[in-house]
Amino acid sequence: MATESAAARWAQEGVHVIDHPLVQHKLTLMRVKDTPTVEFRRLLREISMLLCYEATRDLELTRTTIETPIQSMEAPVLAGKKLVFASILRAGNGLLEGMLDLVPSARVAHVGLYRDPKTLTAVEYYFKAPEDIATRRVIVLDPMLATANSAVAAVDRLKERGAGDLTFVCLLAAPEGIHRLRSHHPDVPIFTAAVDEGLNDHGYIVPGLGDAGDRMFGTK
Ligand code: URA
Repeated sequence: MATESAAARWAQEGVHVIDHPLVQHKLTLMRVKDTPTVEFRRLLREISMLLCYEATRDLELTRTTIETPIQSMEAPVLAGKKLVFASILRAGNGLLEGMLDLVPSARVAHVGLYRDPKTLTAVEYYFKAPEDIATRRVIVLDPMLATANSAVAAVDRLKERGAGDLTFVCLLAAPEGIHRLRSHHPDVPIFTAAVDEGLNDHGYIVPGLGDAGDRMFGTK
């Protein structure tokens, strides 16, 4: 797991480790193997709001004149690019709900990729994105940045459709996945709650939290 100085080192590589105590506490509860599905899902929704809060920290603001009950004032409102949340199916959907709670007007893209269990490469089976994606800021969602095969393939496809301003948000990242995504897409910053030790022979993050999709949907 990233210490404070490790977080600072990762920041130089375009990786933002969100070391807020609430995020770290919730992540620990999610890692516990006995945490039931209902609790895992609730924690994921809460943590995704906190990750979204950090990943959107630099959104542009403008000022507008409003009337408070007391007097008029120039008050800040969001300006500039609107958002698209691009969920890498299926586990990305677990991050989607909390993000939409925070930014209900965002559009949503879905990228369906499955991991070939033998080669661990990403195979696409579904893709749907808003027509105006080129004018929007795209936040790509997948809880686990492991080999980064899915992340690289998803960002490739989104860029082919015109996306030019992308951010990747995950819950846990392996150093291997970070290096792969950053080497293919150095323009895409990564936001994560933690950077773990690495990958095991099956491509799972160690110590990790297991299969995020199975844990959030109760499929195992
Ligand atoms: N996907 C998961 O769900 N968990 C991992 O550890 C790696 C990829």
